[in-house]
Amino acid sequence: MSRKRAPAAAAAPPKENPITVYEAWCKKCGICIAFCPKNVLERGADGHPAPVRPEDCIRCHMCELRCPDFAITVKDKEDQP
Ligand code: SF4
Ligand code: SF4
Repeated sequence: MSRKRAPAAAAAPPKENPITVYEAWCKKCGICIAFCPKNVLERGADGHPAPVRPEDCIRCHMCELRCPDFAITVKDKEDQP
């Protein structure tokens, strides 16, 4: 008797992430985390900011504008595929 395998669950679509952190430039000051109005960023295990809720990002660019080291960028909607 042959058993049919259940179809694999469809992979969840990747979360849209407009935020890039250039870790080589980031000094882990946390300013971007503090200024984000939507709590998108949290400090990762290594101390760098990580976009843990990228789907909540409103692309206000506050993190980018406040970063003293130009270490974080946010893509606008029209710049993403
Ligand atoms: S662009 Fe605005 S909402 Fe998005 S991560 Fe930066 S500060 Fe937060
Ligand atoms: S503000 Fe800039 S340097 Fe400071 S933690 Fe954020 S990305 Fe890093």
